Amino acid sequence: MFLELKNIKKSFGDGDSHVEVLKDISLQVQKGEFCVLLGPSGSGKSTLLNIIGGIDNADSGEISIMGESMSNLKEKQLTNYRRKHLGYVFQMYNLIPNLTVRENIEVGAYLSDKPLNVDELLKVLGLYEHQEKIPNQLSGGQQQRCSIGRAIVKNPDILLCDEPTGALDYSTSKEILKLIETVNNTYNNTIVMVTHNDAIKNMADRVVLLRDGKIRKNYLNEEKIAAMDLEW
Ligand code: ADP
Ligand code: MG
Repeated sequence: MFLELKNIKKSFGDGDSHVEVLKDISLQVQKGEFCVLLGPSGSGKSTLLNIIGGIDNADSGEISIMGESMSNLKEKQLTNYRRKHLGYVFQMYNLIPNLTVRENIEVGAYLSDKPLNVDELLKVLGLYEHQEKIPNQLSGGQQQRCSIGRAIVKNPDILLCDEPTGALDYSTSKEILKLIETVNNTYNNTIVMVTHNDAIKNMADRVVLLRDGKIRKNYLNEEKIAAMDLEW
């Protein structure tokens, strides 16, 4: 199994402010899979993504990527692993304001031993004509395309996306989700994405619904995803 989570638990705070966010999460994701996490606000989606990304630690449980347990990686190796093998896309683009589109993307290739060809990537992103612009000359959607480029240029094993369309209008959001689907089909990176956008149900290979710290639904079959009730 490419990515495997076993019995992940995570709490925050002490005493009265103690909250058990992830109660017992087990999940398997195959290589190249486009996996989407849904769930109400506060259900622990970002926490789970951060644990997969090595930004936060679980209280207990196991995570392995390509058969290797992440808990065996010491702090420095984990940092290295994150830089080389994981890409992150957030709601906020966090581009470097005085660098061009091309330069912002090239920053992401730092330390990668298998970077993608930047010209080809710029074309996939629809940014080839805009590569010499700086971020404030771009629309929100174009800025998010650029930040996807920065995350993907290292050709990560796993691309983690936390509400990448949260700051965009509906039609731009759909374009961005389509782009992430294209990236998944073009480069075959495994993707774990949190979103609220229900346009995703036609694109994802797997939809996981998180509520009250537990996985409530986990669909792999495309027909079921298309038919599934996305209410929570
Ligand atoms: P989601 O992304 O699904 O909206 P989060 O994973 O951000 O949910 O948060 C889940 C719960 O954990 C929330 O109740 C939030 O307040 C709490 N939480 C998240 N991070 C922290 C933290 N660093 N310290 C304390 N509580 C946190
Ligand atoms: Mg969140």
